[in-house]
Amino acid sequence: MNESLPGGLRYSVLGGARSGLAVARLLAARGAAVFLSDSAPPEKMRSAAAALDAIGVAYEFGVNSRRVLDAETVVVSPGVPSSAPLVREALAKGIGVVSELEVASWFCPAPVVAITGTNGKTTTTVLTGRMFSDARMASVVAGNIGTAFSEVVGTLRSDAVAVLEVSSFQLDFIRTFRPKVAAILNITPDHLDRYGHSFENYIAAKERIFVNQGTGDMLIYNADDDVTAGAVTRDVAPPVRLLPFSIRQPLGEGAFLSGGVLTVAAGGKRHEIVRADAISIRGEHNLANAMAASLAAIVMGVPPASVRATLKNFKGVEHRLEFVRELDGVVYVNDSKATNVDSVWYALRSFDRPLVVLMGGRDKGNDYARLRGPVQENVRAVVAIGESAEKVRAAFAPIVPVEPAASMGEAVRAARRLARPGDIVLLSPACASFDWFEDYEHRGRVFKEVVMSLKPGR
Ligand code: ADP
Repeated sequence: MNESLPGGLRYSVLGGARSGLAVARLLAARGAAVFLSDSAPPEKMRSAAAALDAIGVAYEFGVNSRRVLDAETVVVSPGVPSSAPLVREALAKGIGVVSELEVASWFCPAPVVAITGTNGKTTTTVLTGRMFSDARMASVVAGNIGTAFSEVVGTLRSDAVAVLEVSSFQLDFIRTFRPKVAAILNITPDHLDRYGHSFENYIAAKERIFVNQGTGDMLIYNADDDVTAGAVTRDVAPPVRLLPFSIRQPLGEGAFLSGGVLTVAAGGKRHEIVRADAISIRGEHNLANAMAASLAAIVMGVPPASVRATLKNFKGVEHRLEFVRELDGVVYVNDSKATNVDSVWYALRSFDRPLVVLMGGRDKGNDYARLRGPVQENVRAVVAIGESAEKVRAAFAPIVPVEPAASMGEAVRAARRLARPGDIVLLSPACASFDWFEDYEHRGRVFKEVVMSLKPGR
């Protein structure tokens, strides 16, 4: 038995999706007694059951019973809200409640670069990871990104770097998680249903990325975002080293533009990395992401020339302003991951050609007023899709033509009709995808399939 488990010897894991299974395996391998509970019906959990049987972890499916409370620590999956009755009861009983990220961090010998924000996490995390791998520095990319931290932490050596995408849900339940480098890209309203409809609560969750930081640690943050900058300047105390980035103003320390060149000033050195227009991912938001990634890479020792090469070559991540094809002079772009208003705002400002935008889906309480300006300036027409088609129509019909569509196929064909040569057809829905699709990736794939099936000429 292992005596060095910070959460005791008995654990319950709430949620048996990828990160829940990974943390159960990690804890069991370290000698803990683990019980996993998932309310999904047993027939959907067959492969999970097989995996748990193989490692001797007990489980229940179809219910979250009180047996969960028979533990010293409960590990909650990101899908489980802090308002869940069992979570509340565990807290009330003094049982430790932690996230999978927290548990994995107990076993991490390597420094962590942790990236959070409302938008841009995946792009920045993947880009940062690419900077390390292009420089031939040992690293892993994990977190809220497909590979759970628990899956890979056991492979890390102390001279590697763990680059983690971190969501506010994971941060809700950390205790000792302490990144060497933390980055907050931006904080705009999203997921408020999980935070008592309070933006303040959501900001507080994001701030937890730096609560355990101290001497020798660094915090990268967006100085152009008043919410982020306000939170950081109010709540971060020395000795944490602050590394702001800004696309609006030069800075003494941090990342900024100098004569159109992305420049990093850190530790008394100034590195002119690359001209902003030579960065291959486009849009102001991606320049901000590039600044955050460059800062993280440089302070962790990636040579500036290698950072430059990565920024010139990195083509972005699937479903984020992803080029699909050009047909009859019209370019088709898949931004299915734009599931909130702010990401669409940036998408609309990322092109200097007229746009026909496919928008709508499962509404999360969206306020479209923020999009009226960029729609008026850059959008030729909107195709309204999904459950929220009527709300989308009502928001934009006063300023641009809006056509409703009853399927993705219909939507793409309508967009094609509305677009002129030189235009861009952009799927950037501002909504969740669960009305018509399994998830945003499914939505993006269907969009791409329809686009690829179009025949040239009309
Ligand atoms: P996340 O992992 O935080 O959801 P992604 O990198 O997956 O972020 O991008 C999600 C959406 O937000 C995409 O539509 C993308 O184009 C857009 N986006 C990316 N970076 C930013 C940013 N810094 N600010 C606003 N929107 C962004």
